[in-house]
Amino acid sequence: MHQCKEMNKVIFVNHQDFDNEAKMVEYDKKFDEYGFPVRDGGGSNVTINYCPWCGKKLPESKLDDYMAILETLDIYGIGDEKIPDELKRDDWWEKRLCNKEGK
Ligand SMILES: [Zn+2]
Repeated sequence: MHQCKEMNKVIFVNHQDFDNEAKMVEYDKKFDEYGFPVRDGGGSNVTINYCPWCGKKLPESKLDDYMAILETLDIYGIGDEKIPDELKRDDWWEKRLCNKEGK
């Protein structure tokens, strides 16, 4: 997760503070994605790729990796009930992808 003081003041995780207007950035842990919540009642957000405060590039979204893994299991939707429990967890990518990136 991106660590910077300014963003940490206003970030919220996994929709928990979606209606709290003091929280400006939503972090989706499952896909390692950051976004500005769109508070029009729909619950969507606008993905951001760079930190608006310090300008650093944020981590790549894990959604493509996730879909690629699901495809190898013959699963083509993120709501599919055949998805193994391990892949339903928010931290599914920490083991798999950190090894790949050599971290
Ligand atoms: Zn930052």
